[in-house]
Amino acid sequence: MESRYDDREAEAAVRRYGAQGIGEDVALRVYTTRLLGSDPRLVLHGGGNTSVKTTVTDLMGERAEVLCVKGSGWDMAAIEPAGLPAVRLAALRKLRDRETLSDEDMVAAQRASLIDPMAPNPSVETLLHAFVPHKFVDHTHATAILSLIDQPDGDALCAEVFDGRMGVVPYIMPGFALARRAAEVFERKPDVLGLILSKHGIFTFGATAREAYERMIDMVSLAEARLKRGHKAVFVTAQLPQQVAPLAAVAPVVRGACALKRADGAHRRFVLDFRTGPAILDYVNGAELPRYGQAGVVTPDHTIRTKNWPLIAPSPDAAKPDAFKRALDAAVAAFVERYEDYFARQNARVGGGRRMLDPAPRVVLVPGLGLFGLGRSRKEARIAADVALQAVEAIAGAEAIGRFESISEADMFDCEYWPLEQAKLGNAAEKPLAGQVAVVTGAAGAIGSATAAAFAAAGAEVALLDIDRDRAQARADAVGGIALACDVTDPASVAAAFERVVETFGGVDIAVSNAGAAWQGRIGEVDEAVLRASFELNFYGHQRVAQAAVKIMRAQGTGGCLLFNVSKQAINPGPDFGPYGLPKAATLALLRQYALDYGTEGIRANGVNADRVRSGLLTDEMIAARARARGVSEQTYMSGNLLGREVTAEDVAQAFLAQALALKTTADVTTVDGGNIAAALR
Ligand code: ZN
Repeated sequence: MESRYDDREAEAAVRRYGAQGIGEDVALRVYTTRLLGSDPRLVLHGGGNTSVKTTVTDLMGERAEVLCVKGSGWDMAAIEPAGLPAVRLAALRKLRDRETLSDEDMVAAQRASLIDPMAPNPSVETLLHAFVPHKFVDHTHATAILSLIDQPDGDALCAEVFDGRMGVVPYIMPGFALARRAAEVFERKPDVLGLILSKHGIFTFGATAREAYERMIDMVSLAEARLKRGHKAVFVTAQLPQQVAPLAAVAPVVRGACALKRADGAHRRFVLDFRTGPAILDYVNGAELPRYGQAGVVTPDHTIRTKNWPLIAPSPDAAKPDAFKRALDAAVAAFVERYEDYFARQNARVGGGRRMLDPAPRVVLVPGLGLFGLGRSRKEARIAADVALQAVEAIAGAEAIGRFESISEADMFDCEYWPLEQAKLGNAAEKPLAGQVAVVTGAAGAIGSATAAAFAAAGAEVALLDIDRDRAQARADAVGGIALACDVTDPASVAAAFERVVETFGGVDIAVSNAGAAWQGRIGEVDEAVLRASFELNFYGHQRVAQAAVKIMRAQGTGGCLLFNVSKQAINPGPDFGPYGLPKAATLALLRQYALDYGTEGIRANGVNADRVRSGLLTDEMIAARARARGVSEQTYMSGNLLGREVTAEDVAQAFLAQALALKTTADVTTVDGGNIAAALR
C-alpha cells in the first residue's frame, strides 16, 4: 500500500479552508482523513475516525485547547471541517481519572464540552483520541490488519509483524472502558507508533497529519506483506450443481424468502445488491464455508450493517428450481430462529429490556453464484454488500495464514444492541414504500415521470423504462432511479428490461404499465394496420409488461401490484378515437382478468382513467386546435369538467400511488378527470 500524501494537494487544502477561516491543523486533518476514507482497504461507510489537537477561539472570544474529532454520521471520504466537532480537551482528559463512566454520561460529558453546541455528536471513540498525547490520531478497520488480528494467536502475530512498534489492546467494546485500557497500554510504552485493538482495528499517531497517515500506510503494508508470505491455497471447493441458475432467476427467490410477513399480511421487503467475482466465488464455494462464514464479524461495527452472520443459501441448481426454493425457505427459517434464540439468550444476559431488531439476514451467500447485500433501500443494500465484501477479503486473508476467529456472541450482541452504535443508522421514520421496487413504463413522458417521482418520494426504488432511454435517464437522475430502454411492442425488449431490473434491485413489486400512444380514425374506414399497431402498443404492450412482472412477483411469493394507465376512452369513447379506445377497453378487461387470476397470490391489479392531461398524448398543439374547434379558451377546454379544474400528470401519479398503497383494493379503476358523468364507472 502506497502513501497518497501529496504536498501540493495538502497545501491546496490549507489554502482552500484557510479562505473559510479554518486553521491549518484542521485543513490538513480533513485532507488526510479523506485520503484514508477514500480507500476501501482502509475505511468503509462511516467506519474509522480521526482527530487533531489544536486551539480555536470559542464563542466568548477566548482561545481554547480542543480535540477536533470525527462527528457521528460523517463519512471520512467526504469529511468537511464541520464533520470534526471541537471538544474542550481539558474536560475530556479529566475523565481519564474516572474508574467507570456510563455511555450516557460519556455522551453528555462530550456534548457539554463542545465549542459549538449545535455540532454533531463526537465519535464513540473520542476519549481514546483524547487520552493519547499525540497531535494527530488516525483510526481504521483496515482489511489486512483484520486478517492479522482476527486469529486465535493474533496478538503473537502482531508482535512478530510490528516488532514492538505497536501496543496491543485486548478486545473491549468501544467506549470509556476501551479508551482507559488503551491509555494504560500506551502509557506502559509511550514510544509506540500506534495501537492494535484486538479483533477491532488499528490506531496510528503522529506529530503531523502526514506522519500519522503514513504510519497507518506503513503498518497496513507490513500486515499485507505478512499475509502474502503465508499464502496457502485457502478454500477447497465444495460440490456444486452442474449448472448453477442465473442471477435473474435466483434473485427474486432470495428476495421473497428473506421478506418478513407482517401481521396484516403485507410484507417487509428488502432491496438486493448483488456482487460476484473470483475472490467472492472462491469464498462462497468453499467446502468449509459453514465454519469460517458463520464465525462472526471481522470488526464490531459491522454488526449494525450485516448482523453477526450471513445467511448461507443452498447452491441453486438450474435443473431443480423448486428444490432450491424449498431449501432456501428452510435456510431462512433456520436463520430467523437462530437470530431469535440469540436475541433471547443475550437479552436475558443483560437483564432484558432490549427490543429485537428485525431478524432477516442482511447478507446472503450463494455458492456457485456470489453474494447479496440486503437493505431497506438500494443505498443500505450497497453498504451491506460492501461490508460483506470486506469481510470476505479479511476472512480469506485470515484463513491464508491461520484460522479466522471473531469476537464472542456476547460481544457482538453488546455492539449490535448498543444505542450509540444504532444511532449511526439514524432513526428517521420509514417511508410507506421502503424496500419496494417499482417499474414504470413510458417513464420519459409527463404521466410516467410524475409517477416515478411520486413512487420514489414514497420510498420505492424506481426503474424508468422508455423507448427513449436518454430522456428516461434525465428523469431517473432527478429522482434517484435507474433508466432502461424498453419498447413494449417488442417481447425481447420487455424481457431484457425486466431482467436488468431484477439484476439491479433483486425483483419487482409494482409495475406501472403506462406506455401508450393515440391513433385516430373513423372505425368503419380505418386501415386495419392502424388498428393493429394501436393494439400492439395499447393492449399487448400492457399484457407483456404485466406478464413479465407477474412472473417475478410469483417467484418472490410476496404479492405485488399491477397498475394500468387505461384512459377514459375505455368507458366513454370519443368520436374517431376507436383505434385508441378499443385496445384501452381491452386493457380495462385485462386488468380485471389479472385481478381475478392472481388475487389468491396477493397480486393486485388496478387502473387509472385519466382525461385531458397535458402529455405526449395530448400536446399543446392538440389542445389549441380542440379549444379553437369549440370556440373556447385553452384553459376553459382543459378545465371543462364537473369540478372545473385542470387535471395534471401529478394528479394521475397520486392516484397510482394511492392504489399501490391500498392493500385491500384490487380490480379498481380510479377516474382522474375532474368529473365526467359519461365516463363514470358506476
Ligand atoms: Zn473502530
